Amino acid sequence: MQSLRGMTDILPGETPVWQYLEATLAELLAGYGYQEIRFPLLESTELFRRSIGEVTDIVEKEMYSFIDRNGESVTLRPEGTAGCVRACAQHGLLRNQVQRLWYRGPMFRHERPQKGRLRQFHQVGAEVFGLPGPDIDAEMLAMTERLWRRLGIREHLELQLNSLGNGAARAAYRAALVAYLERYRSELDADSQRRLDTNPLRILDSKVERTREILGDAPVLADYLDAESRDHFAGLCALLEAAGIRYSVNNRLVRGLDYYGKTVFEWVSDRLGAQATACAGGRYDGLVEQLGGDATPAIGFGIGLERLVLLLEAAGVAQGAGEQPLDAYFVVAGAVGAAALQLAERLRDAVPQLRLQSHCGGGSLKSQMKRADRSGAAFALILGEDEVASGRVTLKYLRRDLPQESLALDALVALLRRECPRVAV
Ligand code: ATP
Ligand code: MG
Repeated sequence: MQSLRGMTDILPGETPVWQYLEATLAELLAGYGYQEIRFPLLESTELFRRSIGEVTDIVEKEMYSFIDRNGESVTLRPEGTAGCVRACAQHGLLRNQVQRLWYRGPMFRHERPQKGRLRQFHQVGAEVFGLPGPDIDAEMLAMTERLWRRLGIREHLELQLNSLGNGAARAAYRAALVAYLERYRSELDADSQRRLDTNPLRILDSKVERTREILGDAPVLADYLDAESRDHFAGLCALLEAAGIRYSVNNRLVRGLDYYGKTVFEWVSDRLGAQATACAGGRYDGLVEQLGGDATPAIGFGIGLERLVLLLEAAGVAQGAGEQPLDAYFVVAGAVGAAALQLAERLRDAVPQLRLQSHCGGGSLKSQMKRADRSGAAFALILGEDEVASGRVTLKYLRRDLPQESLALDALVALLRRECPRVAV
């Protein structure tokens, strides 16, 4: 049997870098006062239609939707914001409260699989509710920039910003853009022609050359912004400059989800090929109310973890990241199984942080020593009949040129505590 197309397995050789990423993210988010929230993978289809928007790529052609046994249309979440808002509104978390929340987990989109684009992919996302000003926008961007620095990939990412204005500004701009593009309708690519009638702003990020040429003289969204959005954006830019966070304004950055207004941003890399965006987000001040909650300003972002792993690999910082080598491999020589299990458990009691793998399944001393070596452990602990009789354990250094030792339990515990000083978790 094979996995479904675009749904990948993350194998043991790959999980260390994922664990490293996830741990780094969890620590960073906690450091900014964010709390984790978990919500279902499956929601009513209606939730995504109403939030992401009917005429977006996601809702039109990417969702995994099906009718469940009760005849209800349900959808595997294609992103996290909608479910997060639903959960917070449902449980009354948004009433006159500020919430800084984060989540992680798989998302599902039926796209054409390619490098950095899967059908089951993983995101870490963050959402902040109840803060209307640009201070939180700036803090969020500072936080993501800190993440790139912690991961050692800052130089591979560039911040692009735009403001989408309020609904009226977008409507006015949309009319002007359509009026302009209508004159070139027949020269636009087929996708853009279709979008001219459904979602014209999305034409702005077309990759088709002739379409891009035509867009060169198109009206610019910045000229249509309402005063409040303009002030908000200027405030954000000033804060970023004061914090020394480099960015560029990209007038064509529109994002593919209908709920965004005012600030939108993407962290883009030149190391990711066509799937260049590692992190994307923006403000969605209207969404909570639109889904039936009280009006609540909000902003959030999602990070694509597969793309981040690719970036860590491209930057050469994935090698060895997150790996947790064994401290000791326990060689069980002869018929001493009961004593070996007892001793291993006593060592785990005494040194909780110890990474100890006991040999199971028998075999000669020589074959077990080979395994000990291949395990990557720093020591081999050897228990045979002689050791059991004398109440001692033989310790062999596998990575250092030191003579083997014969140790009583107390001395062994003291040595392991000294050599494995990690704090137990
Ligand atoms: P793209 O333009 O690459 O399709 P998007 O605008 O659809 O991205 P968002 O919905 O904003 O993406 O999701 C946020 C992030 O999640 C993206 O920037 C990307 O890193 C990641 N992502 C989105 N879709 C996929 C996918 N199919 N496979 C892997 N990662 C993805
Ligand atoms: Mg997409």
